[in-house]
Amino acid sequence: MRLLIVEDEVHLQKIIKKRLIKEGYSVDACGNGKEALDYLAVFPYDAVILDVMLPGMSGMDVLKKMRREGSAVPVMFLTAKDEIEDRVEGLNCGADDYLVKPFAFEELLARIRVMLRRSADTPTDELALADLRVDVGKHTVSRAGSRVELSAKEFAVLEYLMRNQGRVLSREQIEQHVWDCGYEGGSNMVDVYIRYLRKKLDEGYEKKLIHTVRGAGYVVREP
Ligand code: CA
Repeated sequence: MRLLIVEDEVHLQKIIKKRLIKEGYSVDACGNGKEALDYLAVFPYDAVILDVMLPGMSGMDVLKKMRREGSAVPVMFLTAKDEIEDRVEGLNCGADDYLVKPFAFEELLARIRVMLRRSADTPTDELALADLRVDVGKHTVSRAGSRVELSAKEFAVLEYLMRNQGRVLSREQIEQHVWDCGYEGGSNMVDVYIRYLRKKLDEGYEKKLIHTVRGAGYVVREP
């Protein structure tokens, strides 16, 4: 899943980005509101972590503009201010959650998962399809009860497919939600990862779960 971090404290921005990448998210980061809107206009983010106090345009103004323009991307505010009025204003203008600095990283991660769960309408951290189980909180995968080890990128591709199970996803969609803008597309990376996943998840099982839809892309579903 692809996240945008908007945070002007360079050190904090770097730490958050590093930690989220380690968790398997693809992450873009910027330090002001105008840049954030530029990123949002180009890339399809699954969630935004937005600092409230930013130079120039505030996080609140960024969010208002997003919602005015019809964007429903889930947004979590980060702020050093913990006054109740700010929280209320943030939530009133369409934020999905609010985290006060300094925060524990585990809490940020848990809340991001809750936001993604809500927007994908999945009630738990465990995504299931036939005998395949993907726990996006614990980062574990099993097929028919046997644990399957995946690399971070394999996991990210699978997570995106599983959150959209039954929906055919184009290579471009998969690429845009799993890789960040440091990645130069144009290659067949998506096909390569699908091949890895098939080998690990479908090979040896009668019921194939990863399907190619000619001319359209890929879908995970029961055969
Ligand atoms: Ca700030």
